Amino acid sequence: MHLEVSQLYKQFSTQQGALVALKDVNLHVETGEFVCVVGASGSGKSTLLRLVAGLDLPTAGTITVDGQKVNGPGADRGMVFQRYTLYPWMTVQKNVEFGLKLQGVEPRKQRETASYYLEVVGLTQFAQALPKELSGGMKQRVAIARALASHPKILLLDEPFGALDVQTKERMQQFLLGLWKRTGISILMITHDVEEAIFLAQRIYVLTAHPGTVQRELQLDLPGDRNYHVRREPQFQAYR
Ligand code: ADP
Ligand code: MG
Repeated sequence: MHLEVSQLYKQFSTQQGALVALKDVNLHVETGEFVCVVGASGSGKSTLLRLVAGLDLPTAGTITVDGQKVNGPGADRGMVFQRYTLYPWMTVQKNVEFGLKLQGVEPRKQRETASYYLEVVGLTQFAQALPKELSGGMKQRVAIARALASHPKILLLDEPFGALDVQTKERMQQFLLGLWKRTGISILMITHDVEEAIFLAQRIYVLTAHPGTVQRELQLDLPGDRNYHVRREPQFQAYR
């Protein structure tokens, strides 16, 4: 997997005139890497991730996944938003199955895959529960299971723990780090929380706010287990 963001510009037209949200942003994510983008509120983090997810189009510049230009949403990129965006009327199981259903996966395979990823996120016991019966952290785990279920090449997370209380957030950070180590999936995560980025990422990009949305790259002095991971073959069946 190779994600390349090159000379990305995004301009919005507003009632006050043109607003440059991203200006010459360049970044890349390689197979099995955990990369974070940090930046203050309004620095363009969500805009950047929405463009990578294909939910909006750049004004200029390109985004490619394995050389293929991103022109819209695709199963190669799994997205997790800050707010859980689960369907409240569907069970946890159905929420995870739904994306697969839209992709035309046959019902038995939908059920098997959803069950598998609910096990991966430790929520097998809650498969038949409704989202409202779950805690915030559990809902985010469902959203992660849903994103993983279509076997994306990369997981995109936009401040996934921003709405959680401090303790839940810490548990979810541990959970995500464990998931990444277990599965070897590539991750691009957005956060305004620098501590969180340092705890999780192997490399960090910094988006600075106006004027001149410049991005800088930090290479971290990492604990051994995080360096080791990138060179390791993913052990997880889904990502081989
Ligand atoms: P962040 O996620 O870092 O807080 P955003 O990407 O949400 O920042 O927003 C970056 C800038 O772009 C902000 O000034 C925001 O108001 C503006 N913006 C984002 N989306 C739109 C939009 N659809 N229309 C107009 N302006 C937008
Ligand atoms: Mg945002």
